[in-house]
Amino acid sequence: FIEIRDIRKDYGPITAVKDVTLDIKKGEFMTFLGPSGSGKSTTLYMLAGFEHPTAGDIRVDGASLLDTPSHKRNIGMVFQRYTLFPHLTVGENVAFPLRIRRMPKAEVERKVKEALRLVRLEGFEDRKPALMSGGQQQRVALARALIYDPPVLLMDEPLSALDKKLREEIQFEIRRIHRETGVTILYVTHDQEEALRLSDRIAVFSHGRIDQIGSGQTLYAEPATRFVAGFIGDSN
Ligand code: ATP
Ligand code: MG
Repeated sequence: FIEIRDIRKDYGPITAVKDVTLDIKKGEFMTFLGPSGSGKSTTLYMLAGFEHPTAGDIRVDGASLLDTPSHKRNIGMVFQRYTLFPHLTVGENVAFPLRIRRMPKAEVERKVKEALRLVRLEGFEDRKPALMSGGQQQRVALARALIYDPPVLLMDEPLSALDKKLREEIQFEIRRIHRETGVTILYVTHDQEEALRLSDRIAVFSHGRIDQIGSGQTLYAEPATRFVAGFIGDSN
């Protein structure tokens, strides 16, 4: 479904990502796990179209993605910090991707209701984001990312600003949404417990490369490098 082939990203003398090759299956929950500075976000940004690889290719259903501008990639995104428009209500925030696609108003209202139901925020349409908790705001961001039924959802540490209890609640919601919608998810975290809890497979990043890709069980039982063994082992 998604094929990442030998991508590399240089920022002047700094190589942020190198030799990253990865296949992602349709409907898969794939997590990029690794310490700060290991190249997780940079890899995600190349998928999103915010950054262009210095070398390599990314293909979706066999077609190269690299010439498609970010807003035409049909990919939903949720990031670490609240990215809601503060002057718009929850309903207007969630509707935004449909408005720019010029969907008729009645249909937009129906889709907004449906998306808010998916994240368990029915009835919050008229609320302003500032009057909601961090977790509720991230759920609004999730509803907005999912509203046009993108086949792929990218999430870059969407829960890292939340406390443990809220984080676990929303992890549960994300898993449910993944199950219910079948959306392919690429998820970035440096939290090994979170990765083990959510993912079908985990790609462990270290110094801009992927050390190993596998299920949590495989990484735990058969780590390919000492780094993977140490990083995965940390959670126990
Ligand atoms: P974190 O967990 O802290 O978010 P990360 O794994 O997401 O880390 P990246 O943000 O992908 O790491 O960064 C990888 C490397 O590339 C780092 O060494 C970083 O300093 C460098 N880098 C990232 N973006 C830029 C940029 N715009 N200009 C220069 N260097 C950059
Ligand atoms: Mg990052």
